[in-house]
Amino acid sequence: MVKPIAWRFAGSWSCIRCGKCCMLQVPVKIGEALFYQRKFGSNVLEYFNKGFHIRKNENKYCVFLELVKGKAFCNIYSFRPRACILYPFYIYKKPFYGEEDRAKFTLFDEEYYVYIDAECTGVNRGFLPISKNIVDAILVWLGKEDYKQISQLNVLHSSNV
Ligand code: SF4
Repeated sequence: MVKPIAWRFAGSWSCIRCGKCCMLQVPVKIGEALFYQRKFGSNVLEYFNKGFHIRKNENKYCVFLELVKGKAFCNIYSFRPRACILYPFYIYKKPFYGEEDRAKFTLFDEEYYVYIDAECTGVNRGFLPISKNIVDAILVWLGKEDYKQISQLNVLHSSNV
């Protein structure tokens, strides 16, 4: 179960590969669904709530997850679904879950409302300012992953510190 909180309530974030989020439902867009179907067959997908999702195994984990000595390894990491790339961040153009002031994030003079899943074990486990992760997440959300290298420049954007 996802518990979104405004990003300013979280000091930092880093994935510690606990695998907890690999038990969440992972929605995939139609283009992604076609890609996974072509590459792995239709067994890796299921359809419910009017959309495709990555199938779970009998342990309720994503079928692509491998747990090795308690560490999560994604077997499709380099082409994992967009929802997984963005997790644990949720980005909107409106304050979807409230807390407008605490959720607001400004990038390239545009305002976004960013939430993080408080259930993620990696919350407050990072060393970098969380704004760095958020810039990366917004660029992914905008489909501008290629610009990630310039995200460092925006970490110190005054309104996000
Ligand atoms: S729940 Fe958070 S820390 Fe754990 S694997 Fe997922 S993103 Fe990483």
